This record gives sequence, structure tokens and C-alpha cells, in this order.
Amino acid sequence: MNYQKILEDIYKEIQPELKKGKVANYIPALAEVDPNQFAMTITLKSGEQFSVGKCKEEFSIQSISKVLAFSLAIHIYSKSLYKRVGVEPSGNAFNSLVQLEYEQGIPRNPFINAGAIVVMDALMSHYGGDFLTLEKILNFTRDISGDGAIKFDSSVAISEMKHASRNLSLAHLMKSFGNFDNDVRDVVKTYFKQCAIVMNTKTLSRAMLYLAFDGKDPITHREFLNGEQAKRLNALMLTCGHYDASGEFAYNVGLPGKSGVGGGIIAIVPDVMSISVWSPRLNEYGNSYAGTLALQMFTSKTGLSIF
Ligand code: GLN
Repeated sequence: MNYQKILEDIYKEIQPELKKGKVANYIPALAEVDPNQFAMTITLKSGEQFSVGKCKEEFSIQSISKVLAFSLAIHIYSKSLYKRVGVEPSGNAFNSLVQLEYEQGIPRNPFINAGAIVVMDALMSHYGGDFLTLEKILNFTRDISGDGAIKFDSSVAISEMKHASRNLSLAHLMKSFGNFDNDVRDVVKTYFKQCAIVMNTKTLSRAMLYLAFDGKDPITHREFLNGEQAKRLNALMLTCGHYDASGEFAYNVGLPGKSGVGGGIIAIVPDVMSISVWSPRLNEYGNSYAGTLALQMFTSKTGLSIF
């Protein structure tokens, strides 16, 4: 298949769509990004990459980082993690409080904010504090991407901490139900730093290749997850990776995926490739508008969906 040509066709077709949607402005630092940008990269088993658009421009990966933290957490805690966080789609916005009250402080899944915050709490208990945990997450990201320079943008994390009421509320609510071990502010702050990791579509697509190959990087042969864990993580991405638009994403794109409010999305074609796409304007569910559409075009043009 001529992947470069397919990406270039998508790039052309997506141009009129780049003005649709709105950037996330509840994190002021994210609203400063030029909203009309677009980039897409695919990485094959061999490491060969094909890209279009601003594939070297760095962006805030935000909730895509929840996949990284969850990879570490299932490796450490295995099934015992599921006492603290479920595996069901939420059908609610990513930062909703209502369901958490009904369900007694156990978040529906690790990809809504409450779930990711509880995963961070578990990681901090294991690694012994905020600094060490963040280092582990950054080092894991450097290992899977092969890019030792990966870092987080502290201005984005600080900006989010200034508008943290809702995430702090989620954490306090979980603490009130006994599903929280560490200091609420420390955990939420570290979670924001994790979300503020910056990557471009090339490094991000390369990093996620392990998820397409049963948890094992096909280039370095390093095993980051076992096959069973990778299967479950992909299933969670398919059912929960786009919050209350997860069904729509599965229906239109047909791949496991994970979005972030920075406008990035990753998608996995099992045994074939990992895809990343970035365009900052979001749809009403907080997922990249043009990014989602580009992935839909990609699976329609190539037939590369899991269905
Ligand atoms: N840091 C963001 C938040 O907690 C991440 C949300 C997202 O990317 N959907 O609100």
C-alpha cells in the first residue's frame, strides 16, 4: 500500500475541516497554540514512518499520557488494580463527578480523569512519592519512544494547577470513599505534569508501537507489557479511549485509540502499525475534530480497521 500517498490525500481532504471545533481553553496555556495545525504519522513494524503536516511540532499529549501511566500500573499491580478502578465505558464527560458519587469513589475506567488520578495515586504509593513517579513515567516514555530528551512542559502543568478545582474535587471525593492513599494536591499536581508531557506525532507514533505488537517493541524487542496486558489495554482504548464519544469513535474509525485535549490522538492497528494524529481544535467531547476525521478517512481508504 502507498501509505505516503494515502496520507497526502487525507491531508488535502482535511484542509476545509481545520477551522472546525474549538481549542481547550480551560487550560489557558493550551489556548495559546495556533489552532489550525495538523499532523499525522504512521509507524510500521520495521520502524519505517510516513508523515504529513507539522509532524515535528511538539504538543501537549494530555490524556494520551493515561495510557503510559496505566501501562506501568498494570505491570505493577496486575489484577489487584481493578479493585480501585473499573473497565467499563463511562458514557459521561471525562471530568464528570456525578457517576463517581453513585459508584462510591470507584472510577469507571482508567481513562476518565478520576480513573487516571487514582492510577497516579497507586503509582505514587508504589514508587514512593511524586518526583520518583514522574521520573518513572518520563523514563518509560523515553524507553518506548527511543527519545531520551522527552520532558513535560511545566508552564502547562502550572496553568492547569491554577484551574484545578474539578480534578481536585474528583480526588477529594475518592478520598472520602477511602479510595486514595496519598495527599490529594500532590497526586493531582503530578497527574498534571504527566499530562503536560510534550511530543510530536513522529515520536508519539513510534512510542505506541509496543501496543500494536502484544506489548513488545518490534524494533528493540523490549517487552513493556505481556500479551495479556496489551490485549486488555487495547480493549480499554477501544471501549473507553474517547470518553462519551468512544462508541462513535469505534463506529467510525474501528480501532483502539486514545485522545487528549491537546488535540492529539493515537490509534493502534494490531500487528500492523501505530498511528498518531494532531490537530488542536476539539469536538464537543474534547477529542480532536480533524484528528478523528482523519483517522476515519484512513481506515476507510485502507480497510485497516479491526472489523
Ligand atoms: N489534563 C487534562 C484534565 O485533567 C486532561 C484531560 C484530557 O486530555 N481529556 O482535564
